[in-house]
Amino acid sequence: MKIVLLGPPGAGKGTQAEQISKSYSIPHISTGDIFRKNISERTELGIEAKGYMDKGLLVPDELTIEIVKNRLVEDDCKNGFLLDGFPRTVKQAEALDSFQGKKIDIALLIEVPRESILDRMTGRRVCPACGTTYHIKFNPPKIENKCDKCSTALIQRKDDVEETVKARLDVYYEQTEPLAKYYKSSGVLRTVDGTKDIDIVFKEIISVLG
Ligand code: ADP
Ligand code: AMP
Repeated sequence: MKIVLLGPPGAGKGTQAEQISKSYSIPHISTGDIFRKNISERTELGIEAKGYMDKGLLVPDELTIEIVKNRLVEDDCKNGFLLDGFPRTVKQAEALDSFQGKKIDIALLIEVPRESILDRMTGRRVCPACGTTYHIKFNPPKIENKCDKCSTALIQRKDDVEETVKARLDVYYEQTEPLAKYYKSSGVLRTVDGTKDIDIVFKEIISVLG
C-alpha cells in the first residue's frame, strides 16, 4: 500500500500516520521529521532547511525531492510506505509519479477548516525524544508536559507559534491544496472529515483504506 497523506498543517496527519503505519506495517515517512532530525544533528541539510522552516516557508523542491527519492529506495519501502508532508507542491507530486515502482495507490485528504487550525497548532506539543504528538486540550499527556511513552519533557515546535502558523497556512492554500485536484484527476483521492475525535478519524481512515 503506497499512501500519501494530504491536509493542512495541523489536520492530524502525523497523529493518524503513527496508527496507520502500525496497522498496515508500512514505514511512516515525514519530510518534516527528516528535516527536524537534520536540524538537531546540525547537518548541512538541517542548516539550510531551518532557514525556510522557521519562516513557515517550504524547503526548495529540488532538495526535498532528492531526500524522498533516496528514502523510498530503502528496503523497508518495498511493500509500501506512508508519506506525511510530501508532496507539498505539484512539482513534488510529479516527481513522485516519476519514481520507478512508486505509483501512489491512495492520496488521503484529511479535511479540517482553516478556522480550526490555529488552536490545533498553537496547542500542539511534541516529544523531542520519540516524536509522539500531543495537544494540551484535545490530546493531553497523562502527566502534564511529560511524554506518556518515554517521560521526556514535551516541547513546542518553533514553527507552531501564531505568526508562523499563519504563514504556513498561506503557503498551504497557495501551493499544497491544488494537489487534491491533481490526485482527484488520477482517481486516487479519498477524503475524511478530520474535525472529529482522533479515534473516530482513524476508524474512518481504516474504512476508506480497506
Ligand atoms: P499534522 O501532522 O497534520 O500537522 P498533527 O497530527 O501534528 O498534524 O496534529 C496537530 C495537533 O492537533 C496536535 O496537537 C494533535 O494532537 C491535534 N489533533 C490531531 N488530530 C486531532 C483531532 N482529530 N481532534 C483534535 N485535535 C487533534
Ligand atoms: P511538517 O512537519 O510537515 O509540518 O513540516 C514542517 C516544515 O518542514 C514545513 O513548514 C516546511 O518548511 C518543511 N517541509 C516539510 N515537508 C516539506 C515538503 N514536502 N516540501 C517543502 N518543505 C517541507
